[in-house]
Amino acid sequence: MLIPKTHPRAASLYIRERLVGGYKSGLVVEEGLLAHGRGEMFDYLIGEKTSKASHGAIKAAAQMFLLAKHPVISVNGNFAALCPKEIVLLSKITGAEIEVNLFYASAKRKKTIAQVLKKNGAANVLGLDAKFSQTIPRLDSARRVVDERGMFIADVVLVPLEDGDRTIALKKFGKKVITFDLNPMSRTAQTADITIVDNVTRGMGLLIKSCKKMKKKNLKKGLKFDNKKNLNQSIVTIKNNLGRMSNA
Ligand code: ATP
Ligand code: MG
Repeated sequence: MLIPKTHPRAASLYIRERLVGGYKSGLVVEEGLLAHGRGEMFDYLIGEKTSKASHGAIKAAAQMFLLAKHPVISVNGNFAALCPKEIVLLSKITGAEIEVNLFYASAKRKKTIAQVLKKNGAANVLGLDAKFSQTIPRLDSARRVVDERGMFIADVVLVPLEDGDRTIALKKFGKKVITFDLNPMSRTAQTADITIVDNVTRGMGLLIKSCKKMKKKNLKKGLKFDNKKNLNQSIVTIKNNLGRMSNA
């Protein structure tokens, strides 16, 4: 499909195309397409742009990442289809490990995701070798399996587009959680330490930029961050956008 750049929904249609491409090449499952649909709806409601609150959350996330001893980027099919280059870049700048972790796990899909990441420059991708498997307690789905060299020993984990059960389990397991989630009301958004309410396709580039800038400053301590306030600001943005439409 050829989408004219002038189309009012061009950006979101391009993103949709990437997801469909990811589905066709075996990165994304049907459920991932549905999760994307939910994300699109919230993106519409926040005005399809990065809010001031999200810029603040990105800055806090960059600090947390750079101050971490063992940061890990958790990758699922949607994230790999949308941001393969950015995942690798973020890992290179922050020294974070990349770990594939799937709700609907299959060895073949994990391998396909790792191949895409490697094609985009990743030197090492964790989560594929059962020899290094460990489990997160109190979690039933296949997602409880993590890599003992990655998420198992991580202090900070970036888990975008994540299911609430897993985020809650990671928190109980003592991890600091950063997430990208377009829905400020989801359980993941409400449970994470830092929720970036933005589309990963916009936010990842900004997070990389912020990490690059902050790395030069030789940080000693991160700023205090109030995630409840951050989420409330996103909910107010949605309310205001709806208000504008209903008054029109
Ligand atoms: P929860 O389990 O946390 O209560 P949920 O069940 O509504 O949330 P899931 O399908 O488990 O949602 O997780 C997907 C989440 O990712 C959704 O909140 C969705 O809004 C969000 N999402 C989807 N696509 C994107 C995207 N491109 N960028 C950021 N967030 C996204
Ligand atoms: Mg869920």
